[in-house]
Amino acid sequence: NYAIETRELCYTYEDGTRALDAISIRAARGAVTGILGANGAGKSTLFLNLNGVLTPSGGQVLLDGKEVSYARRDLPELRRKVGIVFQDPDDQLFSADVYRDISFGAVNLGLPPEEVRRRVELAMERTGVTALRDKPTHALSYGQKKRVAIAGVLVMEPSVMILDEPTAGLDPQGVSELMRLLTALRDQLKMTILLATHDMDIVPLYCDYAYVLSGGRVAGEGTAEELVCQP
Ligand code: ADP
Ligand code: ADP
Repeated sequence: NYAIETRELCYTYEDGTRALDAISIRAARGAVTGILGANGAGKSTLFLNLNGVLTPSGGQVLLDGKEVSYARRDLPELRRKVGIVFQDPDDQLFSADVYRDISFGAVNLGLPPEEVRRRVELAMERTGVTALRDKPTHALSYGQKKRVAIAGVLVMEPSVMILDEPTAGLDPQGVSELMRLLTALRDQLKMTILLATHDMDIVPLYCDYAYVLSGGRVAGEGTAEELVCQP
């Protein structure tokens, strides 16, 4: 089975906007799956349905082959398993310094302090921000903030990491450093990664598979080679 699968997933906003219209996608475990599409295609809505911030209007989501429950009591576990890194790191970094920002989610899980410490140290190492631990978050560069945001998701030990436009706002070197970090997480932790992007250049380099969304529907899918060959 796949790490994530959606079957005819639908979502309609309260004002009647049909943002997802029977989306069926599959993300292989330990792979990077790209979600391409113009503004308004439905990428953010899809991600918010996957982590339970929104509840599907129809269809199914499966995680590791099991149908996801959107019952209120099951949502905390869903949000822990499916971590989201927002496009703008300032939307998820609130604490006074890097260490406290990264530990936030783990503290919230109610983990014992020594387990929090272990996870934070590991997450800092994996994202290369250990030397920044005592820095105020607002003093970091944009690329450093992105890494701290990723570390803050890693401490939750999610099975899936979703990133919204992870390369937006980075210079070419920043893009390749960030994408190398993500491929290392994929290869070393067998992390399943889903990323939304406008950036067609990163798809052949870093995505194992990709979907193209348009108007809330899947307009195309394939490996990078297949997508490039499509008319
Ligand atoms: P089938 O329906 O016969 O399983 P697919 O057309 O779905 O075949 O997939 C063809 C190949 O692409 C398979 O090797 C599958 O593992 C791979 N594949 C399909 N979806 C994804 C995905 N989201 N991520 C990575 N690889 C995928
Ligand atoms: P993307 O992330 O690909 O830019 P979105 O998921 O944000 O796409 O948007 C999909 C569709 O849903 C668009 O038509 C958008 O205008 C609409 N939409 C997004 N958020 C809301 C909302 N809160 N209320 C009503 N419509 C929304």
